[in-house]
Amino acid sequence: MIRDFEHFAPRTLKEALSLLDKYREECKVIAGGQSLLVLMRQGLVAPEYLIDIKGITELNYIKSDAKEGLRIGALTPHRAIENSPVIQANYAVLAEMENRLASIQTRNWGTIGGNLCHGDPAGDPAPVLMALGATLKTASLNGERTMAIEDFFLDYFETALEPGELLAEIQVPVFPPHSGAAYTKFNIIESDMATVGVAVQVTLSSSNGICDDVRIVLGASAPTPIRAKQAEELLRGKKLADNLLQEAGQIASTEAEPISDIHASEEYRRELVKVLVKRVGKEALARAKQA
Ligand SMILES: Cc1cc2nc3c(=O)[nH]c(=O)nc-3n(C[C@H](O)[C@H](O)[C@H](O)COP(=O)(O)OP(=O)(O)OC[C@H]3O[C@@H](n4cnc5c(N)ncnc54)[C@H](O)[C@@H]3O)c2cc1C
Repeated sequence: MIRDFEHFAPRTLKEALSLLDKYREECKVIAGGQSLLVLMRQGLVAPEYLIDIKGITELNYIKSDAKEGLRIGALTPHRAIENSPVIQANYAVLAEMENRLASIQTRNWGTIGGNLCHGDPAGDPAPVLMALGATLKTASLNGERTMAIEDFFLDYFETALEPGELLAEIQVPVFPPHSGAAYTKFNIIESDMATVGVAVQVTLSSSNGICDDVRIVLGASAPTPIRAKQAEELLRGKKLADNLLQEAGQIASTEAEPISDIHASEEYRRELVKVLVKRVGKEALARAKQA
């Protein structure tokens, strides 16, 4: 049963930040409620004050610029990202990831910001945004902070957000030339969370097709989404081929720190990392060659 709470529905960011500053630890922010309400129903979270930010339209937008890249307001629903023509054209991997996140109903109401702030290591958006080199902008009455998305996730369901702070914007840099990105997750039930998710972005040198840069990100494989940095190191500066990607998968599977739970054993998750890094790496490489 959900405990009684007082509900506020601010219409502006400034109003929301004032409420957050006033109630601090006694309050909880709610956006789409797709994750928070589950916790409230289970009695795991029982705030005295609920600050409902869903109606703050100034945080619901998708803007794209050839110089600055992509900016997504934290309250943008998943479905808007999935259906955005500008994202489909320039950051297809983001739209593809959203298409496999939950059901249409959940995507219509759940927000990208709520997903990231929930801090679930099995969430779909974080690995893709990390592979794309995204940064996050937070806001509080003290001003704004910007951080690499990699610094946002501290532990299981724990983020770098401070009391009084909201996630305001997700910033994705311009997609580099000669680059390709791909994501997939393994899940047993369609639209379910990832048992393991893998995102890869590859950038090739224009002249000889050598791998200039690569980011390999593992989801549901550690307490937070993580980069498989040793696997990346293996690939940088080399001409990518199947055997090298296979070796990268092998290395990534040792970098992962998965747990055993009702969905999969630790060993099975490591095997998934091995297979998916190769498979997603190949897809990212093929896209980079066509870019
Ligand atoms: C049936 C079902 C299936 C799902 N499947 C998937 C899936 O396949 N993949 C996946 O990734 N997710 C999945 N989810 C999770 C869910 O879709 C996301 O977590 C959702 O995007 C959360 O967004 P929300 O706006 O509903 O957040 P809420 O539930 O409102 O909030 C989540 C947390 O973030 C905080 N918060 C929200 N917005 C902000 C903000 N702007 N600043 C600071 N804190 C904030 C809240 O206080 C709360 O702690 C599923 C959920 C359900 C119910």
